[in-house]
Amino acid sequence: MSARGIPDIIAPLFIELRYVRGVGPAREKMLARLNLRRRVDVLFHLPTGVVQRKLIKDLLGAHAGEEVIVAVTVEQIEKPKRRTMPTTVQCVDDSKIPIELVYFNVKGDWLEKLYPIGARRWVVGKIEMGSARWRITHPENVSALQPTAHAIEPVYPLTAGIANNYMVELTRGILTDASALPEWHDEHLIAQRGWSAWHAALQTIHAPESSADLEQAEAARDRLAYDEILAQQLALAIIRRAQKKQPGVAMPPGSLRAQALSALPFQLTEQQQKVIAEIDADMAALERMRRLLQGDVGSGKTIIALLAMLNAIQAGRQAAIMAPTEILARQHTQTLAPILEKLKIKSITLTGRDTGTGRAEILAGIANGNAQLIIGTHSLFQDAAAFRDLGLIVIDEQHKFGVHQRMKITQKSRGTDMLVMTATPIPRTLALTAYGDMDVSRLLEKPPGRKPCDTRLVPMGRIDEVIAGIGRKIAAGEQVYWICPLVEKHEVLRLTAAEDRAEMLEKFFPGQVVLVHGQMPKKQLGIAMNHFVRGEAKILVSTTVVEVGVNVPTATVMVIEHAERFGLAQLHQLRGRIGRGALPATCLLLFQTPLGEMAEARLQMMKSTDDGFRIAEEDLRLRGAGEFMGTRQSGDPAFRLATLAQANAFLEMARDDTELFLSRDPDLASPRGRALRTLLYLMDRHEGVQLLRTG
Ligand code: ADP
Ligand code: MG
Repeated sequence: MSARGIPDIIAPLFIELRYVRGVGPAREKMLARLNLRRRVDVLFHLPTGVVQRKLIKDLLGAHAGEEVIVAVTVEQIEKPKRRTMPTTVQCVDDSKIPIELVYFNVKGDWLEKLYPIGARRWVVGKIEMGSARWRITHPENVSALQPTAHAIEPVYPLTAGIANNYMVELTRGILTDASALPEWHDEHLIAQRGWSAWHAALQTIHAPESSADLEQAEAARDRLAYDEILAQQLALAIIRRAQKKQPGVAMPPGSLRAQALSALPFQLTEQQQKVIAEIDADMAALERMRRLLQGDVGSGKTIIALLAMLNAIQAGRQAAIMAPTEILARQHTQTLAPILEKLKIKSITLTGRDTGTGRAEILAGIANGNAQLIIGTHSLFQDAAAFRDLGLIVIDEQHKFGVHQRMKITQKSRGTDMLVMTATPIPRTLALTAYGDMDVSRLLEKPPGRKPCDTRLVPMGRIDEVIAGIGRKIAAGEQVYWICPLVEKHEVLRLTAAEDRAEMLEKFFPGQVVLVHGQMPKKQLGIAMNHFVRGEAKILVSTTVVEVGVNVPTATVMVIEHAERFGLAQLHQLRGRIGRGALPATCLLLFQTPLGEMAEARLQMMKSTDDGFRIAEEDLRLRGAGEFMGTRQSGDPAFRLATLAQANAFLEMARDDTELFLSRDPDLASPRGRALRTLLYLMDRHEGVQLLRTG
């Protein structure tokens, strides 16, 4: 075994590419743009497809659309008259049949160097019939000698400076050097699926030689996808098991529970009772709880958090709830205050706004245990050791945390249970990946008495009617959210749009409009939000989802401009801000005409259902997993080998496979266990290996 614990057999695969023949410093940088740094990365950089090429002697035998290899002689280079036009290299083949090679965006004189007049060149590419002559646009390969291009050639995702044939050769070289590895999958599974071994599967994909190889490609890709998914589920299971094994403290519910329930103005729904029972069982056990609570916006998660926190306090320990923003932390403080007062529980709120001696006092209260229930923002929990005895931490509305960040929070603490609550209706596939280290509870229904939100699609041209409509609502004492268009990656434009809109609305409703946006100083943002929360301002104009989770019962209207630019899950989140009181709610999705077919289908979906899970599944289907989870979210990196379809097909199987295997060989000590360790390293998933008992 090498210094970093990488098994010897795969150690060569972790050598950086600069030490590989054919990779110089320039190429190394270019390859890094494709995230290829080590040999193993190249092996896992799978082609998107293959081309099958035909060597043709003369163009009489060519068919348009074919991939060909053909020898040509250069006659002249025609420069374009306008920049947008291509440069063409006029050539003839060996029987003097004309063919032109077309290049767009040519800078400098590299074409002249590549194609000296009168020179003979071998050109590889897709041949088309242009106006009166054959044509190849941007040949994939050009060489003076007959290329050793492979009749079947994989096509790779590329970047500037890295040509496909370079990738082909690089990959083949690395593959030839790589060893076959002992099988880590269950032999019955391999037989049943007809999968080949790891190295053979890579060979089929990267270096196909026959139509039999092409037929095998799908099975080979499935095998590699399953390798990756299994590694991920195994790594998560190892962490989950290790976390649970850390001694916890029994924290069953007690008299505080009964008091809290009788102080509530409502009865728990059946779903809430089911979820709290699951939490009680976890907390009462001597293992640590790590549970994810998924519940749509407005499904009543806060009360669950409170009841769970009371379990910890009942056991004489502290409980904390972490909100993503100050506003939400303050909101929790307000909501919980009346009940906590009745139960005589001392609570403290700490946010970034508390500074100086005030902050020091609060921190002292947390450290000496005077504070039993602590409400705070993220900064508070960077060092969990600052608590006297933290029994439970609740992370609210938080989907920006990855497995490792969660691990960190409880690492330093002794026996701290964790409850993560999210309103993002995560499809099961993603729950298994992003939260695979946790057990999952779901709140599938909302408290009774909610009226469904009336969602309407309104073309931008009818904005006058919208303004008249919200005028009537405001006159009736209701409030309005106005969300400005999503301008991808362009804060300045986004801000201008919001400022313009706020200014325009201010003309209609003087003194009743507040503007919030992501670039505001936190303090100012807090003031503006509070202005709205307290009902002093009637319209909140906002750039995006500034505050997921705010609860303003008199806000009944949500206007979303350029709704077609938002993701469905995001629209659903936004819509969840309204309809939280007894009054009927209206969501107006303003769209820009003309609306494409797909965009219309998506907006119609918003109109037809209020079911967050359905919307999320649909969103996921339409946009793919990476998009769904959002680029800003720092969860685990998405799969690189497995597609979404493969993830759907294999995740549950991998989870079961893992559980079954670990129940027999928890320390990966058997031969298959050893092979699985190799797999974990191979997939960069070995972080949990040191948690195993035997090295
Ligand atoms: P979220 O899940 O979005 O955090 P909240 O916890 O803020 O939802 O709950 C939304 C609203 O529903 C709150 O006003 C809360 O008091 C109310 N609520 C929660 N549970 C019930 C219940 N069982 N019956 C009636 N109202 C409830
Ligand atoms: Mg909430």
